[in-house]
Amino acid sequence: MVDFSNGDGAGPRAQQFSRRKFIAGTSCFGAFYAVAQTIPLPMLAETLADDSRVSQTPIVDKGFASVRKIGNGLYATISDPSKGNTTICNGGFLVGKDAAFLLEGFISAAGASFQMDTLRTLSQAPVKGALDTHYHFDHSMGNAFYGANGVQLWAHAAAAKRIVENYTPLQGADKAAALGPFEKRVKDAKSDSERAHAQSDLNAVTGLFQVANASVVALPNRPIDPAKLPMTIDLGGLSAVIESYPGHSGTDMVVRVPEQNVVYTGDLLFNGWYPVCFDEKATISGWRETLKKFAAFDKDTLFVPGHGQICGQEGITSIREVFDDIAEQAEKMHKAGVPAEEAQHRYVVPDKFKNFPIFAWGFTIGPAITKLYAEWQGK
Ligand SMILES: [Zn+2]
Repeated sequence: MVDFSNGDGAGPRAQQFSRRKFIAGTSCFGAFYAVAQTIPLPMLAETLADDSRVSQTPIVDKGFASVRKIGNGLYATISDPSKGNTTICNGGFLVGKDAAFLLEGFISAAGASFQMDTLRTLSQAPVKGALDTHYHFDHSMGNAFYGANGVQLWAHAAAAKRIVENYTPLQGADKAAALGPFEKRVKDAKSDSERAHAQSDLNAVTGLFQVANASVVALPNRPIDPAKLPMTIDLGGLSAVIESYPGHSGTDMVVRVPEQNVVYTGDLLFNGWYPVCFDEKATISGWRETLKKFAAFDKDTLFVPGHGQICGQEGITSIREVFDDIAEQAEKMHKAGVPAEEAQHRYVVPDKFKNFPIFAWGFTIGPAITKLYAEWQGK
């Protein structure tokens, strides 16, 4: 990295500009990286310090992600987007006597490769499969790694179609045309907050455009019909259960290890983040119901969220409070007759959640409010 702290006579403003330009010009994930850099990973919670399942020292820490033992044959890959963009989402793997099972395709093939390499430092067991917990790009753009290595790729039956519909049209597309509508929203914004929200959306979509164009899209080849769940997978002395719940993407799967009270939630849990709600199949009431079910799991349940640090039930309590707060503020505005288009920009982040990253306004808070309005209006 270039050290920008060495003064060259330019003021802080110019330095900031050149730094931004540098990032955009040198990384193919420029805009995405700029967003990701603002999302540091908190330390492991003190409450998990005496949890005998959780190893206090990671097996490996690459900055962009670390891998930690969280149970008997259970490992969590936890990303720190502020330190790199190889993985971005969390994942993990399960290792039994007879087989291993991996979670997530991550945002890049290098991310999936990193996790597989880590598994191989611990076990040579054949890999039964890898699971995309849902179709979103930060969990699936590295899928090609599994294809190249003959690893069967599991996902919700609708995931392959959603990947094709959402990401392949961006490949080779005209960038100006793809981003034009988002740039227009920045230009046409009627207030400072609307402009800031539109800019955060433009940054996110620019990142998505760049990632889609830098990736070889590869599709899951083991579609799982949600109607046939729960499904138990036996890895030899270690059993896991795949379940599906509504909420984040319409393709969400979780992996539970009931004997050890460990759950890999995918993006049904964002720990210490504002939840990403933009998906056309996201359902706020459905998601809140799902979280209520998670809250009823054993009090010692250990959760590996899709983003953020490993947590216990306090992580579920916290995201439920975030949803409650969004719903409360939205309901007040709804009752006061504030139209949805306006209400989605008026939410005020309370002090309590001021350190919670907002990936982009129009991917998190904005659509949570418009979807709640739609539910209340019976749409
Ligand atoms: Zn997601």
